[in-house]
Amino acid sequence: MAKIILTGDRPTGRLHVGHYVGSLKRRVELQNSGEYDKIYIMIADAQALTDNADNPDKVRDNIIEVALDYLACGLDPLKSTMFIQSQIPQLTELSFYYMNLVTVSRLQRNPTVKNEIKMRNFEASIPVGFFTYPISQAADITAFQATTVPVGEDQMPMLEQTKEIVHKFNTVYGEALTDPSILLPENEACMRLPGIDGKSKMSKSLGNCIYLSEEPEEIKKKVMSMYTDPDHIKITDPGKLEGNTVFTYLDAFCKQEHFERYLPDYANLDELKAHYTKGGLGDVKVKKFLNNVLQEELEPIRNRRREYEKDIAYVYNMLKKGSEEAEKVAQKTLDDVKAAMRINYFDDEELIARHIAKYQNS
Ligand code: ATP
Ligand code: MG
Repeated sequence: MAKIILTGDRPTGRLHVGHYVGSLKRRVELQNSGEYDKIYIMIADAQALTDNADNPDKVRDNIIEVALDYLACGLDPLKSTMFIQSQIPQLTELSFYYMNLVTVSRLQRNPTVKNEIKMRNFEASIPVGFFTYPISQAADITAFQATTVPVGEDQMPMLEQTKEIVHKFNTVYGEALTDPSILLPENEACMRLPGIDGKSKMSKSLGNCIYLSEEPEEIKKKVMSMYTDPDHIKITDPGKLEGNTVFTYLDAFCKQEHFERYLPDYANLDELKAHYTKGGLGDVKVKKFLNNVLQEELEPIRNRRREYEKDIAYVYNMLKKGSEEAEKVAQKTLDDVKAAMRINYFDDEELIARHIAKYQNS
């Protein structure tokens, strides 16, 4: 069976370091591993509109930002097909048919939807489109017959919902859809990177992000303001690692060689942690180290982005070509789905012949 990847991001802002460790970095590695037959990367504008209906310009203006971040991170249009969700009408059509296979109570139980409804203060005024977006996500994944979906931990319930739809469809109508697997980050800290406020996950909608395209000064300012252990007041106080955002980021980003370069007094992260918990190590020193680590990781991304920013027409053209290719693939799945559902009337000669026969002698 072909190995196919589908994943994507909502164009609600520039991409941040949470996207990077949760999904983007992995995509580039998978792309360059040569182990996958096809890789589809979707800019989910239709999904972004489900909770930004009154702000289409935000979505419209961020498509190019997300595409630039993709290219800056090393996604390569020769190896990965990047496309815009709304340009593939087959996805909407698939969603409509999948809606018949999901109950309202099942959607209400979806933990991601529940959480996001709370986060957005929707309460009783949830847009129907937002409520049903797990179904449209199932359409996105199955349209490309994806076998692998590399995403952050927050997407686990979405994948579960997709798998249920696939099983239901294949049971009711016959095997037409591929059952996908989630691919989570291997590193625990990368599954759900917290925001710089330490409160919840880093998220464009919460304004607690370090963006991939951020200027060096801004990165430094954000790192120096990061949430640590509120009880670690004097340097001599013992510090807590749990819920300490600076250490979570170090878990996500720091490599052995960073110590040699920026903090040679310590052999590795374990030694640094031990000193912090014992007492005698100040937050500022740890933050300065994290700043060096992040600056090193983000500099090449920022520089590559600047190169692509010089040729925006190329980026739009790349997305257009990607969307055309994606549409063909989605059409093939839609044809299979409609045949399985027996709504391909005009292609079904047996049906027409049977109905001719029925009325021939009447
Ligand atoms: P929004 O606030 O508009 O929902 P977002 O910041 O949550 O935006 P998405 O576009 O919803 O970003 O997520 C895109 C991908 O990035 C998903 O695979 C998601 O799991 C992953 N991701 C997003 N935020 C994080 C994070 N803080 N840590 C790890 N992965 C993340
Ligand atoms: Mg999100």
